[in-house]
Amino acid sequence: MKICVLVKEVPDAAVEKRIDPSTGRMDRSGEKNLNPYDTHAIEAAMQIREGGAVQVDEIVALTMGPESAMRALHKAVSLGADRSIHLTDPALAGSDVAATGYALSKALASEQPDLVLLGQQSDDGECYTIGAVVADHLQMPSLTQVIKMDVEDGALRCERQAEYGYDTVQVRLPAVISVGDAINEPRYPSLKAIMGARKKPLEQVAAGDVGIDPGLVGADGSRVQCGDFHDPPAKAPGQVIEDEDTSETVDKIVAWLEERKLI
Ligand SMILES: Cc1cc2nc3c(=O)[nH]c(=O)nc-3n(C[C@H](O)[C@H](O)[C@H](O)COP(=O)(O)OP(=O)(O)OC[C@H]3O[C@@H](n4cnc5c(N)ncnc54)[C@H](O)[C@@H]3O)c2cc1C
Repeated sequence: MKICVLVKEVPDAAVEKRIDPSTGRMDRSGEKNLNPYDTHAIEAAMQIREGGAVQVDEIVALTMGPESAMRALHKAVSLGADRSIHLTDPALAGSDVAATGYALSKALASEQPDLVLLGQQSDDGECYTIGAVVADHLQMPSLTQVIKMDVEDGALRCERQAEYGYDTVQVRLPAVISVGDAINEPRYPSLKAIMGARKKPLEQVAAGDVGIDPGLVGADGSRVQCGDFHDPPAKAPGQVIEDEDTSETVDKIVAWLEERKLI
C-alpha cells in the first residue's frame, strides 16, 4: 500500500495573523511551522504501517507552497514519511481553495496512492475543504472527521465524528480520508529522525511536471475574489471602579448590571 499525506506550512500559532491589504492575502512573512492538524495524518499513516494488517510500502508527504514550505516536508519526514514532494511554482501563488485542491489532485494522480490522508483543517485558512475537492478530482470516496481507521481487505472501516455521535463507515480503497485531531496523539520526532530528515528524498515538481492546466490555478485561475479587509472595531475601554467601600462597590456593580438588564 502507498499512502500520500498532504501537509501544509502555516504561520506559527504564536504569530498574529493578518491580511496584507495590498494583496488581499494572508501575510505569511513570520515564523512558520507544519500545520499541527497534519501531524495527526502522518501519525495515522505510521500507525497503519506499524499495525501490520497491511504492508505499507511507502508514506509520501506532499505539499504545495513557496520555497519555505520545504521545512514542513522536513518535519513530515522526521515524523515518519519516507520521502516528500514539493509542488512549487510561481504560477500557483494566489490559488484559492478550489485551485489548490485541483493542483494537489494532479500531483497525487501522478503518484497513484492507495490512500490519501490529510488534516481536518489548516491552522491558517481553516476551510476544512481540501479533502473533498481533492477526492472529487480524483474520483475517490472521501470521509471527513475520521477518528478511527482499520484496514480490512482492500477497504477501510472508519469511525467518524458527527454532530449526533459517531458514524461507522466502510470505504473501498483508494480513498481520501481527512482525519480529526482526536484520532491519535502524534509522536515527537527523535533527534536522530530530525538529523536524518534532510537525507530522505525530496522531489521538487513544477505545475507543468504534473500536468496542471495553468488557466485553473493562481490568482487568475481562482474564482474567489477577496474584497476589502478592515480591522475589527477597537473595544471601548471598560469602567474601572476603585474599591474604597466594598458595599458601595457592590451596589455600583449591581446597578451597572441592572441597567443593562443582565440581572
Ligand atoms: C484569493 C486567495 C488567494 C490565496 N493565495 C494563497 C497563496 O498565495 N499562498 C497560499 O499558501 N495560500 C493562499 N490562499 C489560501 C489557499 O487557497 C488555501 O491554503 C487553500 O484554499 C486551502 O485552504 P485551507 O488551508 O483552509 O485548507 P483546509 O481545507 O482547511 O485544509 C485541510 C487540509 O488540507 C491539506 N492542505 C491544505 N492546503 C495544502 C497545501 N497547500 N499543500 C498541501 N496540503 C494542503 C492539509 O492537510 C490540511 O490540513 C489563498 C486563498 C484565496 C481565497
